[in-house]
Amino acid sequence: MASSPTPTASRRSRTPRPPKQWRYPLGDEQDYLRALRTQAEAAILAVERYVLPELPRVLRQDDLRNTPEGPESWFESLRRAFMEALGAAMVDDGKAQGLAAMIAQRVEKYNKEQYHRLLRRAYGVDVFKAEPRLAGILRPWEAENIGLIKSIPEQYLDTLHGRVVAAVRRGTSLRDLTRQIRETYDLPRSRVELIARDQIGKLNGDLTEYRQTNIGVKKYRWRGVMDERERDEHVEREGQEFEWDKPPPDGHPGKPIRCRCWAEAVLPALDDLDALIIH
Ligand SMILES: [Zn+2]
Repeated sequence: MASSPTPTASRRSRTPRPPKQWRYPLGDEQDYLRALRTQAEAAILAVERYVLPELPRVLRQDDLRNTPEGPESWFESLRRAFMEALGAAMVDDGKAQGLAAMIAQRVEKYNKEQYHRLLRRAYGVDVFKAEPRLAGILRPWEAENIGLIKSIPEQYLDTLHGRVVAAVRRGTSLRDLTRQIRETYDLPRSRVELIARDQIGKLNGDLTEYRQTNIGVKKYRWRGVMDERERDEHVEREGQEFEWDKPPPDGHPGKPIRCRCWAEAVLPALDDLDALIIH
């Protein structure tokens, strides 16, 4: 249901006050990260429980460099150990769906609060507009994140399996192999940090773009968090205006990987907003 601006008591154009920061849903990012970390730790624990105890047997086999075949081969025992580890660490569909849906809903709510807060502050009124494309942003995000959540143990164990096979073929000792395996525990831990930060930034950025353009905002000012982790190209964009129609090469704020920058709406006069104004 699209709505056009309703006549206001006085038709004079009010110049909007400069908006305060459109805050980043950091709390939701941290909760998502905490949940994803559980999956990373489950994969690590599964390696400790199912893969490490199997290594002495794997390394005791003769002819390690021969083509590993047959049910008694080291390759087969290792493969079984990794299958058991995956079985123990795997995330079930319902759990992944529930987590993705909950986080999407929370980021959406947070973004909506920021949007209303900004408009109230800028215009002193509440602004309403139907958001028919919202599901088209949330559902694909959820689908992508269900895949990412499930991939945490799968991708890690797959990578590790490949490395262990290569190390066994090289004749690595039990002690070195155990150490090398434990050194990979950082892989899933840092991957979940990347996922949480990147995915929350993208969703928040997409919602912000939709909500601003939906009410007729054409431009925004690039705003960064200005911490030491912000990339130089984004620091250089600080305060510069961009059109929603013409994204920079790496995308609008929040779209580049791990970007926490945000778009400060360049608000039109109240009468030029494409929305229902409640006085
Ligand atoms: Zn950025």
